[in-house]
Amino acid sequence: MKISNKILTEDNNQKRLKPPPFQGKVNGENVTYCWSHGITKNPWHNSKTCKRRKEGRQNDATFNNRMVGNNERCKAHNNNSS
Ligand SMILES: [Zn+2]
Repeated sequence: MKISNKILTEDNNQKRLKPPPFQGKVNGENVTYCWSHGITKNPWHNSKTCKRRKEGRQNDATFNNRMVGNNERCKAHNNNSS
C-alpha cells in the first residue's frame, strides 16, 4: 500500500478525511477492530463506523478491548477451524 503525497497537502486541501488510527498489529500488519466482524485491515471499519452491526454490538470495543466481541479476521478466513 502506498501513501500518496495527498497527505502532505492535506493542510491546504481538506477534501478527504483521514482514516481513524489503527488499533494494533497482527503479523506486522496494521489492523483495527470491529465488534461485529472482528479484526480488519480496513482502517475505516471499526466498532463505531461499522454499517452492518450485529445485535448487542459494543461501539466502544477496540482491538485491545474486544468486550467479548468477534475474534475472527473480518475477511480471508483461514481453514484452521472446523
Ligand atoms: Zn463491522
